[in-house]
Amino acid sequence: MKWVDYIQPSTLDDALGLLKKHGEKAGILAGGTDLLVLLRAKAKSSDIIVDIKNIAELNQLDFDKKTGLTIGAAVPCYKIYNDSNVKKYYPGIIDSASIIGGTQIQGRATLGGNLCNSAPSADAVPGMIAMGVTCKVAGSNGVREVPVEEFCLAPRKNILKPDEILVSLNYPAPKPNTGSRYIRFIPRNEMDIAVVGVGVYVELENNKFKDLRVSLASVAPKPIFVQEAGTSVVGKEVNEENINLAALKAKEAAKPITDMRGTIEFRKHLSEVLTKRALQTAIERAKESV
Ligand SMILES: Cc1cc2nc3c(=O)[nH]c(=O)nc-3n(C[C@H](O)[C@H](O)[C@H](O)COP(=O)(O)OP(=O)(O)OC[C@H]3O[C@@H](n4cnc5c(N)ncnc54)[C@H](O)[C@@H]3O)c2cc1C
Repeated sequence: MKWVDYIQPSTLDDALGLLKKHGEKAGILAGGTDLLVLLRAKAKSSDIIVDIKNIAELNQLDFDKKTGLTIGAAVPCYKIYNDSNVKKYYPGIIDSASIIGGTQIQGRATLGGNLCNSAPSADAVPGMIAMGVTCKVAGSNGVREVPVEEFCLAPRKNILKPDEILVSLNYPAPKPNTGSRYIRFIPRNEMDIAVVGVGVYVELENNKFKDLRVSLASVAPKPIFVQEAGTSVVGKEVNEENINLAALKAKEAAKPITDMRGTIEFRKHLSEVLTKRALQTAIERAKESV
């Protein structure tokens, strides 16, 4: 059995110092629900585990009507979906946070870990891309802001350098007449990997689409942003024809593979059907939004 050191720094500076010293041999642990599975399966090897759950900055869950919502990278899912501001202004986040694993997993797992694990099927990432979320990343060379749609590069690969930590996810301030939604298809009722996942965001004005953003999971090596879905309908009436057009663009953008969970044809079909359904709910939410 391999010896692994464990350390729980209480400041971001201390954590960054450890990453600088140990580089790729340091494993950052938020909830650990991906990391520990990877270590046990020997799919990843770390000499030192840096547990970030004790760092105040990474535990913030702050909302401001003007600046939006900041979710620290160490905040577990259950705290997010029980937060009154998230419930009121960001129901699309709850769609994802409440389906990642089961209750036990949600007691530990974070949205930051979901993003940093960078699985093509990550359930929280399409919603982040659709909602235009940016990441705050800290490293030994300072802090940078990165849009989530640029974060993932390939399965388990992302833009983070070995000396960098994701500090927080920053959701834009809520606007009236906007709504978001994440849905996935899984063969079982829960605890399964998305065959396809769809995150959408809409902004409506005088019964027209002012903005529309679609992102898909499990149809490419990383979650993708389907820009054409928005450009095809922005400025047009909110009606079935245009919802179908945006959904068709999602189907066209999907570049899935066939594997044990689904064929290319099935996944492309799901991309269209789920986008349509997600848009219908997002539009309802936009009409009810505060
Ligand atoms: C039984 C089970 C069911 C699951 N079901 C789902 C599901 O339905 N949907 C889904 O999407 N996922 C699921 N997962 C995977 C996992 O729970 C999620 O991806 C979860 O969001 C990961 O969060 P975490 O905080 O536990 O990440 P961790 O395991 O702590 O970290 C994940 C990766 O990101 C890195 N990392 C974490 N935080 C940071 C940071 N702040 N800065 C830099 N790097 C960081 C870690 O080093 C690691 O490589 C499941 C896992 C299990 C075990």
